[in-house]
Amino acid sequence: MDNKDFNWLTVLLVDDSPAILQYVSTVLERNYNISNIFNATSAAEALQILRQSERINLLFIDLNMPNIDGIQLLNLIQKHGYTGYLVIMSGISTRIISSVELLAKKYQLNYIGTLLKPIDETDFESLFTKIGVSRNQKHSNESLKTYEIIRALKNDDIEVFYQPQVELSTRKFFGLEALCRIHHPRLGIISPDRFIGKAEESELIVHITWVVIKKAIADWQKLHQMGINIELSVNASPTALQQPEFADIIFSLLDQANMPAKNLCIEITENILADNQIQELMNVNRLNMRGVSLALDDFGKENSTVDRLQKLPLTYLKIDKSYFTDLRESIGQLSIISTSISLAHELHLKTIAEGIEDREILKMATEMGCDYGQGYHIGRPMKAKDILPWVKQWRAKT
Ligand code: C2E
Ligand code: CA
Ligand code: CA
Repeated sequence: MDNKDFNWLTVLLVDDSPAILQYVSTVLERNYNISNIFNATSAAEALQILRQSERINLLFIDLNMPNIDGIQLLNLIQKHGYTGYLVIMSGISTRIISSVELLAKKYQLNYIGTLLKPIDETDFESLFTKIGVSRNQKHSNESLKTYEIIRALKNDDIEVFYQPQVELSTRKFFGLEALCRIHHPRLGIISPDRFIGKAEESELIVHITWVVIKKAIADWQKLHQMGINIELSVNASPTALQQPEFADIIFSLLDQANMPAKNLCIEITENILADNQIQELMNVNRLNMRGVSLALDDFGKENSTVDRLQKLPLTYLKIDKSYFTDLRESIGQLSIISTSISLAHELHLKTIAEGIEDREILKMATEMGCDYGQGYHIGRPMKAKDILPWVKQWRAKT
């Protein structure tokens, strides 16, 4: 983003002095490329404009208006529910300003600074730096563009991280889930939430899936040679499973790596059943017949039915992390979890708890009879080279 380009802002200036309104408008237009600017010379007018234009996201207010003091005005703005940026303008002493600043914070207004009168052009710089930074932070979960995903594939910037899974009753290291990342040239490591959705809109997801599976199998092989024999889980999106040759490619990759089928687990999501995809069902059944395990990911996130579950040749049910991470807020989650566990066991499925973020959740999941667990408390997703050190540390702990 060009730092000088703030034309996405809609500004309301509140000051009883037309000269100030004129001056600030000119600076905003000329230096920051802002064209949507409203002026108000009274508090009443300001509130009326706020009511009429929901788009206002930057507010400059003068603390010394006739008929109303700055504190009353802030109060009204807060009551209106304004959530944009707030700048205070004033000629009064800094001591009063700092108490008004405190108040703005208490009202949870997004206060970004004060312009002291007489205002100088350069006083705006720090305000716009703050806006730029906070906007960039907001955008840190925005999706990558298609070309950025293509570039990552071309430049081999797809990386695989691994998150350990342990058997809860014994605390034994049991498996690794392969989780994909993009190493972006400018932004660094990007999480899959910022590109998997986009990739799923096209065939790009198929390419990503194969890159991840190939790298993960190669890493599994290395670990195996070092004496670590664990199960590897990979995520397969519905689009990838729609490829008629999906199962066959998996079989040949397993053969090439001398990896037993039982050491591989494919994580699928429930929506592959929603539209009754024959191709996907064929693939999962062929994989299962060869001994590859299947896990149903994110169980509980969508509406699951027993009927649907029975249609899939599953080995594991992964209980969505939200149930465990929300435990601290709501004990009501407990009964949902225990129902899911009994259901899984009735269907002869093993359960994997996701989102084990602390010791209490680990204890709870164990006591509730969950078979396996995965989460930040056990281990964060890590690079392949960090797995051995993690194993040593984990063994020392348990
Ligand atoms: P998922 O399959 O449910 O993966 C688990 C996600 O939970 C991971 O996020 C992991 O970092 C996060 N997580 C692990 N432990 C904890 C915890 O204790 N607390 C919390 N709050 N979160 C935890 P990540 O790696 O960002 O992956 C997000 C999603 O992206 C995955 O969710 C999966 O749906 C998708 N994804 C990742 N890699 C691939 C891939 O290679 N192919 C496909 N198709 N999807 C992938
Ligand atoms: Ca998964
Ligand atoms: Ca999951």
